[in-house]
Amino acid sequence: MITIIEGGGPVVSAIDADEQRALKEVAAKLAAERYAPQAEEWDRERIAFPHEERRYLGELGLLGIALPERHGGGGAPLQHALTVIEELAKECRPAAFQVFESNTGPAQVVARFGSEEQHERFLPPIISGDATLAVAISEPDAGSAATDMKTKAVAEGDKVVVNGSKRWISNGGEADHYLVYARMNDEPGSKAIGAVIVEADRPGVSFGERERLMGFRGIPSADIRFDDVEVPAENVVLGPGRFRELFGAFSIERLGNATMSLALGQAALDRTKRYVQERDQFGKPLVEFQNVQMTLADMLLQVEAARLLIQRAAAGVGENLPNSLDVSLAKCTANEMAKRVTDLAMQLHGGNGYTEEFGLERLHRDSHGWALAGGTPAMQRIRIVSEMLGRSFDQRR
Ligand SMILES: Cc1cc2nc3c(=O)[nH]c(=O)nc-3n(C[C@H](O)[C@H](O)[C@H](O)COP(=O)(O)OP(=O)(O)OC[C@H]3O[C@@H](n4cnc5c(N)ncnc54)[C@H](O)[C@@H]3O)c2cc1C
Repeated sequence: MITIIEGGGPVVSAIDADEQRALKEVAAKLAAERYAPQAEEWDRERIAFPHEERRYLGELGLLGIALPERHGGGGAPLQHALTVIEELAKECRPAAFQVFESNTGPAQVVARFGSEEQHERFLPPIISGDATLAVAISEPDAGSAATDMKTKAVAEGDKVVVNGSKRWISNGGEADHYLVYARMNDEPGSKAIGAVIVEADRPGVSFGERERLMGFRGIPSADIRFDDVEVPAENVVLGPGRFRELFGAFSIERLGNATMSLALGQAALDRTKRYVQERDQFGKPLVEFQNVQMTLADMLLQVEAARLLIQRAAAGVGENLPNSLDVSLAKCTANEMAKRVTDLAMQLHGGNGYTEEFGLERLHRDSHGWALAGGTPAMQRIRIVSEMLGRSFDQRR
């Protein structure tokens, strides 16, 4: 059966609902049986998702769902990958992160804009789980103001020499390759920015200490330094002057990010639904109190609003990049929903919500991380107004 989802953007994509449902079931089972039992320990001990588990996800075909078939991927619509990300993330964000990074992250930039030679070199190992590609944009003095980045990637003969440092890189120190956003000429602002792949084992690449983040604990994060790192010119994926395409492709990652937040909100709601019907106070289940009912309704309202906005934004993705307004609406709503809904879930669990045992504080801690990664809700709001009014607002003047 083919279901047509009408998108807010110009493109309407057809997705196979039966196939998507089957994938959802497989992912939910995998999450519950294989990853849920380990998720708490990986978080508590800050254990990085094991390589053999990543390869297992590759064997199942989950790392290449939305990547091209000719390189071993599934060639399926993005929505299928988002479904798997959501199901895994409800139980274990480090597992979901692998599917997120490969299907919605920098591999999409390579798949869409890279050369055939880059496709052949980088995509098959990402899809099989043998290698990972992380994205390195942020710098110590260029977070929200990403176009203030200073890292340089300068052509010298048949090589490109990379110098600079990157900050907050998820999978930093762990990934095999990095898609590094860098200045490639002397033009000001975004005009000079392009993207080049740097292999982790190149001389001159070094990593900072692993960050001790509030959440994201099974997902390593570290700074990266590049000191006169030489890579072949063939590693340049997009040269300068193509910033719109580069950040257009990053919109796909933002939809993966929004889906992580959706999963956090949905998981918090699911657990709370059960809890308020089981726990008695004043001689009756919590759900009998009107305030609890109002809170549960608010939680569902927010989760469903985020879900629909994500679906609308994802429906426009195919050959085309997502509609930037739709993506920012979805990311901002989902990120803020996850923070609020996980907080309300903790509240309705009383003292139990404040324990590690119930896992709600873990959902809440992770919700803050996803709201920062990929551009904060404030930056999404700026984009939303800019797209709504059809004008840009210079943040520097
Ligand atoms: C868990 C996590 C994972 C991450 N993963 C990656 C990764 O893999 N790769 C990568 O490159 N980066 C990554 N990042 C970095 C992330 O993209 C940045 O943290 C984010 O863009 C914000 O930048 P900043 O931390 O420098 O905050 P700042 O830019 O300093 O912002 C601080 C505050 O000021 C607000 N602000 C800034 N400018 C404005 C403005 N013009 N108007 C209104 N408010 C403003 C922000 O919204 C924020 O609330 C990650 C971050 C986290 C926390």
